[in-house]
Amino acid sequence: MRLGFLGAAGEVTGSCTLVEAGNARFLVDCGMFQGGPEARQKNQKALNVGFDVRKIDFVLLTHAHIDHSGLLPRLSMLGYRGPVYATQATIDLLEVLLPDSAHIQEKEAEWQLRHRRRGGKDERGVQPPLYTVVQALASLKLLRPVSYGRPEKIVENVSVIYRDAGHILGSASLEVIVAGEGKPRHLVFSGDLGMYDRPVLCDPAPPPAEADVLLIESTYGDRLHRSLPETEDEIVAAFERTKAAKGNLIIPAFAVGRTQEIIYMLADLVRRKRLSPLKVYVDSPMANAATRITLANQELLDPETRELIAWLKAHPKQLNLELVADVERSIALNDIRSGAVIISASGMCEAGRIKYHLRENLPRSECSILIAGFQAAGTLGRRLVDGARLVHIFGQPVPVRARIYTVGGLSAHADQSALLKWLGGFHSAPGHTFVVHGEAGASANFKRAIEGQLGWTDVQLPQPGEFVTL
Ligand SMILES: [Zn+2]
Repeated sequence: MRLGFLGAAGEVTGSCTLVEAGNARFLVDCGMFQGGPEARQKNQKALNVGFDVRKIDFVLLTHAHIDHSGLLPRLSMLGYRGPVYATQATIDLLEVLLPDSAHIQEKEAEWQLRHRRRGGKDERGVQPPLYTVVQALASLKLLRPVSYGRPEKIVENVSVIYRDAGHILGSASLEVIVAGEGKPRHLVFSGDLGMYDRPVLCDPAPPPAEADVLLIESTYGDRLHRSLPETEDEIVAAFERTKAAKGNLIIPAFAVGRTQEIIYMLADLVRRKRLSPLKVYVDSPMANAATRITLANQELLDPETRELIAWLKAHPKQLNLELVADVERSIALNDIRSGAVIISASGMCEAGRIKYHLRENLPRSECSILIAGFQAAGTLGRRLVDGARLVHIFGQPVPVRARIYTVGGLSAHADQSALLKWLGGFHSAPGHTFVVHGEAGASANFKRAIEGQLGWTDVQLPQPGEFVTL
């Protein structure tokens, strides 16, 4: 058996593992590298695996996030026509996310072209999109749905079991069973794991009792998240202060996952009378699509969330949710001076409608910005978290007088203790464990935690592009 760590080794994006086992050759995830100046080059080189990609038999996707799925259109452009397996909810999300990813890239290339022409330069140097909307739509045709919790036979010697990973809607950990001479071999891919006892999604399902090979994520392998009650207190404080000051509350949020989690928390706080009844605008086409997909897949949500949705239906005035569709309505929100709660994307304030809401509300001391997600270095969101007094939006200076609240406890990723709890589901140490999907420091720290707390001895940190024969 041979494993190729094509991405998400020593970093958190570009998830893609090549597996050659028995006579099957397949990929687990096909993710895009994101962030940093080298990302683009890495994406262009990503699928040059040393052989024709048409020789890959199948692809298994753990979940819809672009860093796990975003190079699927490239794979299909390179000639791959085989099946790509994923849960139905993942497929529903990909139908929105992949064309959107292509659309953003097309817009970026157009902008570069205009910029160069204005500067009297020609088209050389404009980076074409990795793929177009048409190519993204074509790749969606390869997707095949699989269900949680039962073995799905993929090819003659290979079957897979998808288990809920509790990370985003439709996310899964995978157990791949490869039959051959002798005992079948079990390969477990954690995928991205969610937190336990958090709203909206179910807890991560336990892994199988045994594995020959395990790949475990380690995004937050070196830290612990703040507790849910602390996070609720922070949110209530932000609402109370903004209400007293008669301003607006703006919440930048990732469209998939975080937006729905915030809606849940606000509704729950209103139900428990910690907040008074609210009108909330969700102003992001992507967030609205993700919210609709979430509501259409209620069987995947935890019982508390299904109960809260029923309560909301019975008490529509308690949380009046408006999914803002058209641009005119979005612009009209800029005229509201007081009492508006606006959730908008992108989560790091780099693109989308959130920039307009920040331009309007940042200069007003009576307003508040509630930041509830990870903000990467260099983003507008990070500058706000770091206390900038002046930022630039659409090239114009905008003074920051609004209060910035940073809420720490919301994360779609398991922290160190949750990762160890999930690993505790194995009855014995896997034959080989590979720590992936983490910055180098986080992965190394988590490797030590596994060795120290679980006593496992074969724990490795694969290098980017490394191939391992087992
Ligand atoms: Zn993810």
